[in-house]
Amino acid sequence: MGIRERYIKFRKEIPENVAMVLAAKTRIAKEISEAIDAGATDVGENYIQETQAVLEELGTGVKKVRWHLIGPLQKNKINQALPIFDVIQTVGDYKIAEHIDKRAEKAGKKIIPIYIEINIAEEKSKYGMVPDYKAIFKLIEKISSNLSHIRIEGLMTMGPEVEDKQSLRPYFRKAKKIFESLKTAKLPNVEMKVLSMGMSDSYQIAIEEGSNMVRIGTAIFGKREKYIF
Ligand SMILES: *Cc1c(COP(=O)(O)O)cnc(C)c1O
Repeated sequence: MGIRERYIKFRKEIPENVAMVLAAKTRIAKEISEAIDAGATDVGENYIQETQAVLEELGTGVKKVRWHLIGPLQKNKINQALPIFDVIQTVGDYKIAEHIDKRAEKAGKKIIPIYIEINIAEEKSKYGMVPDYKAIFKLIEKISSNLSHIRIEGLMTMGPEVEDKQSLRPYFRKAKKIFESLKTAKLPNVEMKVLSMGMSDSYQIAIEEGSNMVRIGTAIFGKREKYIF
C-alpha cells in the first residue's frame, strides 16, 4: 500500500466527526501532495523552515489545505509562522500568546486560531500547561479577554511514551474532562471545539476517550527516518 491507499483506508476507519491532521515532519513535498490528492484536508508541521521549503515546492497548484503548527513555537519564529499556518496548536503559556497577538496585528492577520497545549502527564521534557482545570481556565480567560487577534478553538495534548498504550487512557480521559468543563464554561470569545490528541500508535484509544482530532504521521507515510523531539 502507498500513501494514497493508506490515507483512504485510514479516513474510512476513523469516525467522520474525528478530524485528521497529517503529521508531515521530515516528509518531502511529493509525499505530502500524494496525501492531499487522496483527500487530506489538514497538514501538521513541526518546523517553520521545513514548512516553508515544502510550501515552496508544492507551489500554487496544490489544493488548499489547513496548515497546523504542531511543534514548539519560538518567539523569534512567530513572524515567519504567521503567514504559513492556519492554526497554532502549541500555545501553552500567556507570554507566547501575547507575542503571537502582537505580531498578528502587525502582520495584518485579523484572527489566528490556536489550541492550548496541555502537558497531560506533567513530564519534565514536555512543554504545555499543567493539567489543572483552574489554571487552564485562568489562562484561557486571560488570553481571550486581552488578546483580540487570537481565538482559542481547542486543546492539544501528547500522551507520554508508554509500552502499553492502554495506560494512556487516564491521561486522555483527563484531557477530555478538562475539555468538556471548558466547553460548559462558555467563556466569551472562546470556541472550545477541538480536542487534538492521538497519534499513529494511540489514535484508537484517544478516539475512544473523546478525541475529535488525531495527528497521524507514521501510519500514513510509513516509518520516519530518525527524528529528534
Ligand atoms: C510526529 C507527531 C505526531 C505524529 O506521530 P506519528 O507517531 O508519526 O503518528 C503527532 N503529533 C505531534 C506533535 C508530532 O510531532
